[in-house]
Amino acid sequence: EPASWQRALREQFPIVTAHPDVAYLDSAATAQKPQPVLDAVMAYLTSENANAARGTYPWANRTTARVEQARDRVRAFLADPAPERSGVHFVSGATEGLRAVARDWLAPQLRDGDEIVVPFADHNANIAPWQEAAAVARAGGARVTLRAMPYDSAHDYDAARLAELVTPRTRMIAATHVHHVYGNDMHLARLRAAAGPEVPICLDAAQSVGHMPVSVADLDVDFLVFSGHKAMALPGTGVIWAGNRRGPAYVPAGWQGTPNTSGIVSLAAALDWLDAAGPDRIARWTRDLGARLTAGLSGLDAYQVLGCQDSLAAGSAVQRRQGIVTFRHRAIGSNDLGFILAADGLLVRADGHCQGEHGEETASVRVSLHVYNTAQEIDRLLARLAELNSA
Ligand code: PMP
Repeated sequence: EPASWQRALREQFPIVTAHPDVAYLDSAATAQKPQPVLDAVMAYLTSENANAARGTYPWANRTTARVEQARDRVRAFLADPAPERSGVHFVSGATEGLRAVARDWLAPQLRDGDEIVVPFADHNANIAPWQEAAAVARAGGARVTLRAMPYDSAHDYDAARLAELVTPRTRMIAATHVHHVYGNDMHLARLRAAAGPEVPICLDAAQSVGHMPVSVADLDVDFLVFSGHKAMALPGTGVIWAGNRRGPAYVPAGWQGTPNTSGIVSLAAALDWLDAAGPDRIARWTRDLGARLTAGLSGLDAYQVLGCQDSLAAGSAVQRRQGIVTFRHRAIGSNDLGFILAADGLLVRADGHCQGEHGEETASVRVSLHVYNTAQEIDRLLARLAELNSA
């Protein structure tokens, strides 16, 4: 029986309640939207839609104010310790955000012999931009080296090896908060300790913001980029938070353009909703559902779960796995398995998950959870997977 608080939250998702036969298990790709977010967008569009920063009349002024309020909302949500200094910039998603940091902030600073540490087993969106920044520098005659972020056997960043890798020429460490395939909550404190106090860190928080408490004060990073749409805002929303403490202040290119005002309104509403729901509770709920799934899969010998096996064991002390579980069937191809499950209304992601060149070589099935998912959905999935166990 689901906890009553969770049932009350689940009922706020119209797409979920309208499809009782569907289990949406792909929130790492994009999250569903609760009614208050949809209402906020509708209210904005039907009451005072106008362009921002163009104001000679009240709607425009109020739109401008909403955008500024949304920036403050993001700062508060991320527990920004110095909001008067930081920048919050709205983009279309994490991909655009990471690319903007690499191209607009880092690339112009790069000099011959500089180095960037890149997580080559993480999402491509956090690899290609750094390659591009190095290519821009190279085109200008500066040789820039990309160094692979080392991983340990737990699929976490290997802090000991990182300490040797970071040199006085390291201009950026690109890292990920929660891995989009293995689901592990990377040990960022260890990363900062190994990197030392000077090196900028840019964190891809696409899979953590909205799923668990995230504090830029605790993380001690310089940039934090996330996808608004994975945090229950509208599609086409994302955020760059820039701490502006190490290196020059970040000024985004193209800020004079028309912002995605309805998307920004949805993001502020989504962060309100998530704060009220409780990121801590959400994290516990989705972790428990993930643990239920991995426990069930461990009894089905056809399936292999990817990632750190220690973090999979029931009651494991390794409590660093969020609600993402990725696996393969020994005989059925992952794409086929995706279609088989979809035919039963079990909506999972089945492919290579945009993982970088040091990642998995073959496709897999990813189940990613949010607060609207239930134990019944996991059991339904497990029942179907059990039927396929001897295939
Ligand atoms: N980084 C990670 C870890 C992701 O999981 C994703 C989402 N696929 C992205 C970046 C890209 O996010 P977006 O779709 O918002 O560009």
